[in-house]
Amino acid sequence: MPRVLIAEDEAAIADALLYALRSEGIDADHCLLARDVVPRVRAGGIDVVVLDVGLPDASGFDVCRALRGFTEVPVIFLTARNDEIDRVLGLELGADDYVTKPFSPRELVARVRARLRRSGGTAPTVAGDWVARGDFAIDREGHRIRYRQQPLDLTRYEYALLDALLQRPGAILSRSQLMDRGWDSDADSTDRTVDTHVKTLRAKLRAAGADPDPIRTHRGLGYAIEA
Ligand code: CA
Repeated sequence: MPRVLIAEDEAAIADALLYALRSEGIDADHCLLARDVVPRVRAGGIDVVVLDVGLPDASGFDVCRALRGFTEVPVIFLTARNDEIDRVLGLELGADDYVTKPFSPRELVARVRARLRRSGGTAPTVAGDWVARGDFAIDREGHRIRYRQQPLDLTRYEYALLDALLQRPGAILSRSQLMDRGWDSDADSTDRTVDTHVKTLRAKLRAAGADPDPIRTHRGLGYAIEA
């Protein structure tokens, strides 16, 4: 049975949500305080988190940021004010959805169901697979890199270059060192090939909101990354 964690300090809202979810066959837990959310999610078995923005001890935004440090569990925000919605919609938080108060429990259940469908009923927990490097997170087994929680759609070479740079943030890697890491055979690659892939990589990072450009060009030496 899927399980939802509701973090909400208003008892009437929490009770209505718990009742609505349980009557739809969705198991639900409840906590009142922001500080209880991360330990509860870390303990496992939570498929969706419903997070009030205005919790007594911290903001739901801070909780969401903390969750994103170790899990991609879907987060649905409960917001009371329009200025909160603007922040929820900001990609920086990695929230999946929101409902504004007042809302019907039925509406929230529908949103929860949509999230469960999308994640196949279980939340992908990324602890252990993703390694954080500043704004980046790398899954070396999956050959995936995210920038501020956004997956980057990288070619094999772009991945190899970024991975090599992120292994040693700040260190300057020469073009031939980068080629050694990323290319099986150097038959048809030149310094210019590396430059070309760095260029497309930079464009993708820019599209993901990386400004200033985290990749530094060191003339005559190579490239480094500020992570
Ligand atoms: Ca509240």
